[in-house]
Amino acid sequence: MTEQVIEVKNLVKKYGSLTAVDSISFSVSKGEIFGLLGPNGAGKSTTLEIVETLREKTSGEVTVCGYSLDKEAALIKKVIGVQLQSSGYYPGLNLVQLIELFAGLYNCSVDPIQILSMVNLQEKSKAKVKELSGGQRQRFSIATTLVNQPKVIFLDEPTTGLDPQARRSLWELIRTIQAQGTTIVLTTHYMDEAEYLCDRIAIMEKGKIIALDTPDSLIDQLLESGFERKKEMKAANLEDVFIHLTGHALTGDY
Ligand code: ADP
Repeated sequence: MTEQVIEVKNLVKKYGSLTAVDSISFSVSKGEIFGLLGPNGAGKSTTLEIVETLREKTSGEVTVCGYSLDKEAALIKKVIGVQLQSSGYYPGLNLVQLIELFAGLYNCSVDPIQILSMVNLQEKSKAKVKELSGGQRQRFSIATTLVNQPKVIFLDEPTTGLDPQARRSLWELIRTIQAQGTTIVLTTHYMDEAEYLCDRIAIMEKGKIIALDTPDSLIDQLLESGFERKKEMKAANLEDVFIHLTGHALTGDY
């Protein structure tokens, strides 16, 4: 049987009279990349933050790696990796010092250069976060989620604001982390990203999950309902043109 890393049952979150998360249920299997999609305000961040133990739920059941959110939140914290916004980093510290700080918080010892190499930032070890490009900052923020060798990491819009090459470099990094056996839950507004990366996606709207399946099955279901694209797609798009003209191999130097 597939091992479930995350199980969410009838999760509800109310902010006063607003029901931001309206009795949703889903599970995430070991090794999956699971995407939460939906328009702004759909309840994605609230759901993620509850599973990450950062926000109180109103009702429902959440289990992460077999630990109950109600009874074993401290154990959940130890097995997950959570991405911080880059504004959350101490500005005076360089990348190695920041990784050491995170390791200290998790009470584990790490080789900062090895962690930075995983995200191709070993040459920036003495740099401060403000000296990094947008793509490098995102890669660093992913590196910080890996410090405690988590079983599952949460990425909230990991490629928002990045140029196409930096996005693709991040996609490869996320795939590499998955290949090492880590389960990944991410939110995104980019449908191409969800289609490329996610094994399954849940689409949320107004606090409810309105679809949950593999990207392929969701597309097939739409086609079976008689949907047809108005215009034939070309075999390449403008993003391919951009990458072809400005980028070469995806070395990760963005
Ligand atoms: P998403 O991540 O999909 O954009 P959110 O989970 O951030 O959605 O928000 C869902 C709904 O809950 C929105 O209507 C938002 O305004 C509301 N909301 C989020 N956080 C709070 C809060 N701390 N207090 C009150 N309302 C909130």
